[in-house]
Amino acid sequence: MSINLSQPAVELRESRLKTITGYEGDAAELLSKNDIPNRERSFTQCGSCSADQVMNLLTQIQDAAVVEHGPAGCAGDIPMRNGVFRTGNKRMGYNVKYLNTNLDEKDTIYGGGAKLEKAIREAKRRFNPKAIFVTTTCASAIIGDDVPGICNELEEEFGIPVIATLCEGFRTNIWATGFDSANHSILRKIVKPARQKQPDLINVISFEHKFLYESVFRQLGLRTNHIVPLSTVEELERISEAAATVQYCETLGSYLAAGLEEHFGVLEIKAPAPFGIKASDELLREIGRVFHKEEEVEKVIISEKEKIAEDLERLRGRLTGKTAYIAAGGPLAYSIIALVKDLGMEVVGTSVWHHDQKYDNDDERLNFLRFGVETYGNFKVGVCNKQAFEVTNAINKYKPDIAITRHLATVWAAKLGVPSIFAGNEPTEMLYDGLIRFGQSIDDAISNPAYIKNVAKHSKLPYTDWWLKQGTYSFLRSEQNV
Ligand code: SF4
Repeated sequence: MSINLSQPAVELRESRLKTITGYEGDAAELLSKNDIPNRERSFTQCGSCSADQVMNLLTQIQDAAVVEHGPAGCAGDIPMRNGVFRTGNKRMGYNVKYLNTNLDEKDTIYGGGAKLEKAIREAKRRFNPKAIFVTTTCASAIIGDDVPGICNELEEEFGIPVIATLCEGFRTNIWATGFDSANHSILRKIVKPARQKQPDLINVISFEHKFLYESVFRQLGLRTNHIVPLSTVEELERISEAAATVQYCETLGSYLAAGLEEHFGVLEIKAPAPFGIKASDELLREIGRVFHKEEEVEKVIISEKEKIAEDLERLRGRLTGKTAYIAAGGPLAYSIIALVKDLGMEVVGTSVWHHDQKYDNDDERLNFLRFGVETYGNFKVGVCNKQAFEVTNAINKYKPDIAITRHLATVWAAKLGVPSIFAGNEPTEMLYDGLIRFGQSIDDAISNPAYIKNVAKHSKLPYTDWWLKQGTYSFLRSEQNV
């Protein structure tokens, strides 16, 4: 698949990857057909917005500023993001460099171009950034302000990249397109052709800067470039110098990895994400092949497996036969299945936020769903577009021993009295020792249910008994009605 960097707007996931947000069935069916039509809902709660995901990535670039061209309401996520980046992750020692143009009713009639120019100048004055990303919202897109034109003029004047990032919420039904929009801007205007290739350098695309491949990479004599969070503009300019890129979540990294390969000759490591033993073996062997370190990799695999053998047996003894429900983004949910199965547990169902029917680098080794089905067997899949009412309904129906969730879903399981753990952004569950950490978290949650039972006792669900008795996906329209 070709990544087109000539236009300011990224090609949307809907058309690029045939992404769907509504589906009920199983993994084998998803694999056997690669053109399943999306099923819309006749009722939805709120979901995520692609502009939010753009903020997520771009505000974490250390010396870049972000100007959001839109009403103040679109900035609602910024205080939360700033707090999470600074205190939640305990790693970002400064505030995000962000301004919003605060479009109002008058601007929607007379245009907001002048306000935008003023805000970009203010961002330059206030933050002295190395690059300015200018993001769009529904309001600025509807009134048709020429954001790329204004950016181009100021870029010439300032002598730094001023990059129009077109990501208004209504542009796409898939919030994850926001990651692609941010990465599109980075590929289009920040990354420079390699001055000198660095054969021991590997780009690692992750949600957070700290990354647990690190210990294994050190054993293999590889240096890492963690992108995009906490990178500097200069570091991003030079990611083309790496020999390869590895990513573990196609929602986040598929576009950037494929774009680096196609336009800058940085090979993407084509292997499943290292969740569970078999996927970890496959990923490390592929890294060994690419970096000509096959023997070293075999040694690492043997020693890492030896380290976990005793704990794995203990955890399997405690967890075999327990049931799990998984609610997460598509690729991560499919990967988490490997962990659950390696621990001897059963997967009773999954709710995935969306499902990509293709990948940017069209290579079956990157098909995490196929890897899961072929290694561990078929499983139920519901594509829920982060709809809390569907996730709550499903967890209530299956009553699993544990709910493994991302984003807001953890709280709904807790309110139902179901032990739940958050599969987080800092991927502690990866590789061999990650399997043990993950299994221990599950064991702790299942063995200590008192807190969750108390939460449930004092919680009132917003959903009626009527809804909890309905089919989970009864608000999905039939395929014929799409
Ligand atoms: S960009 Fe659109 S969908 Fe996103 S927060 Fe603003 S108004 Fe809402």
